[in-house]
Amino acid sequence: MTNWQGIEEAFRAKGLRVTPQRSLVFRIVQKMGAEHPSAEAVHLWATRHMPTLSLRTVYAILDELEGLNTIRSIDLGTGSKRFCVNPHLHHHLVCDRCGKIKDVFVDVPPVEVPPEQRRGFSVRQQEVVFRGQCAYCRS
Ligand SMILES: [Zn+2]
Ligand SMILES: [Zn+2]
Repeated sequence: MTNWQGIEEAFRAKGLRVTPQRSLVFRIVQKMGAEHPSAEAVHLWATRHMPTLSLRTVYAILDELEGLNTIRSIDLGTGSKRFCVNPHLHHHLVCDRCGKIKDVFVDVPPVEVPPEQRRGFSVRQQEVVFRGQCAYCRS
């Protein structure tokens, strides 16, 4: 669900008003989606349009959007929680130096975790993180 009408309905279904703040944060996170922005990055953009918007409010709205399954927070060891807008299963390229994150769509053959190492876990999905340096950091 990535269109505005869908998200408006989802907000209302949860009893949340569609405020200009929610609308703005949603639009920014969609626009920046490919960069996997942090809350701070979303906040920086949001304040260009709404200078009084606090970082705390941005965090709260991002949490709400995650609760509506519109975005997903991921922590890939870049020092901050990041937000991913792509609802399809995918993997990530992560730059060790600048923390850039990019989506990767490749078929990864399922890796079987031996039962003795699974320790009763049931595996829902496997995600692969490719670590290295981005083109900018390499140059
Ligand atoms: Zn992603
Ligand atoms: Zn980099």
